[in-house]
Order: sequence, then structure tokens, then C-alpha cells
Amino acid sequence: MTEVSNSAVRSVDIGGTKVALAMVEGTRVTERRQFPTPRTDRGSDLVAAIASALGAMPGDGPVAIATTGLVDEGRLTALNPDTLPIENGFPLVDALRQVIGSPPLLVNDAQAAAWGEYRHGAGRGCASFAFMTVSTGIGAGIVVDGRLIVGRRGLAGHLGHVVAEPEGTRCGCGRRGCLETVASGTALARLATAAFGRAVAAPDLFALAAEGDTMAEGMIRSAARSIAIALGNLAASCDVERIALGGGVGLAPGFLERVVEAAAELPPTFHREIVRAEAGPDAGLIGVAALLAER
Ligand SMILES: [Zn+2]
Repeated sequence: MTEVSNSAVRSVDIGGTKVALAMVEGTRVTERRQFPTPRTDRGSDLVAAIASALGAMPGDGPVAIATTGLVDEGRLTALNPDTLPIENGFPLVDALRQVIGSPPLLVNDAQAAAWGEYRHGAGRGCASFAFMTVSTGIGAGIVVDGRLIVGRRGLAGHLGHVVAEPEGTRCGCGRRGCLETVASGTALARLATAAFGRAVAAPDLFALAAEGDTMAEGMIRSAARSIAIALGNLAASCDVERIALGGGVGLAPGFLERVVEAAAELPPTFHREIVRAEAGPDAGLIGVAALLAER
């Protein structure tokens, strides 16, 4: 299969809470549907649910899958088992090939979204570019000199698990003080709930800051500063030209501006253009379809 540009790709995006499916041609997303992610610890249940959903879609184009977790030679492992409970090294490509007839393309979701942004969104015109989503968790994908960096074991771009506080909170990945434990929506909600003594979700924290609450403002600034430091580290390691921020927290009112402000305090060598992501929640579906079509 070398030429698929004239037929729509059947794209699947596996997240911790939902699985989205759509027919994708370029940036055109049709027949979008979704179902709750089976959280049974068994990859076979995930495979059955995806196969059934694909069977209900029109068309029989090639299948491309973006998924949360580590993708290594067609096998899926949850880097953070709280996000997606599944057997380590589950052979997702092989299991799906047995039920849909041909092996799907399988790529990490943030890596796929980075490619979607690079080809069709905020990364257009760059040779080297990164996308970071700050949402329930934190993920990223990196394109260097026009190539998506996947890495030896699929770990490239997992910036949610670079360390921000060496003695910090234990992360689901096994490390302590990962960026995800200080700057994700989950982290903001945890920190805010402890600080305010009542349940405060990430959107509530942004609402409080907008009303002038200085404690809420301080917590958001602290998260933005941790993100800015990680982006400086990304500049030092991959020298990308531009970084796009997406996700519920990344696109929350004022967050990007606070990241840009904090990044400006870094020495000029580490300054990079930081912009809003453009491709939206379907970036993963679009990106993985583009990767398949260009393969
Ligand atoms: Zn971690």
C-alpha cells in the first residue's frame, strides 16, 4: 500500500477516557464518533471495541491509530498506568491485524498530534517544531529537520515525564516530581484542592485567577514557569524553531501568555517562538492519517 491519498484513512485516537474514530482526508474529518475507553486492564477488550466501532463505519480505507502510552514495534505500554490500564507490551498492531485483516499504523498520540500541527497547523513553515499538550496529562511530539522523532523505544517527546521537582510527588511513571505532577490539569486541581480546602478543578482555578484571586494566580504562574523551563530544556536538546501549546490548560485563558512571560526570563539562547496550537482536539486523528498517507 503506497498510494492512499485519494481514499480516506480510518483514524482512531485512543485516550484514557475515550476512543475517537473518524474518516480523515487531509484536514477533513468526517463520520466522527467516540466511545468510552474500556478500562478493564485487558488489551483484548480494547481491540474488540475498536474492531466493532470500525465495522460500524463506512469505507474500508487503511487504519491509523494514535494512542496514549509508549508505542514500541507495534506494542503498547502505558507509561502511566493510571491513564490507560493495559498489559505491558500489549501487541496491539498484531491483535488488530487479526480482526481487521491488515496491520494498522500505530503512533503515540502526542507524536501524531505534533505531526498534524506540523503539516496542517501551527508548525507549517518550520523545519524543526514541537507540540506540547497540557491537559489532564502532559505530552509532546518533536519534529526535527522534517522528521518526526519517535526514538529507539517510542519515548521521544514524553516531556510530561521530565523532572521538574526531584523530591516532588510520585508520578504514575515511577519517577518523582515529573512536569505532569506540577503543571498538568490534574496537578493544578490537586494543588488547588489542597490549598483552598475544597474541591477546585483546573477550570475553577482559572476562573478564580480571572476574578483576581492572588493564590490562584500564583499557582497558575508556577505551573506556567515549570512549562517554560521544560520548553527551554527542549530548545537545548532539540533546537526546534517554534513550539505550539495545546490542551485544556495550554489553551486556557492567559496560560500561554504566562508561559511566554516566564520563558522570556530565560537567557536569549533558549528563547523560542511559543504559539497556540491550531489543529484542535482532532490533531491526533489528522496527524496519524497524514503519517499513514505519507508513509
Ligand atoms: Zn512521570
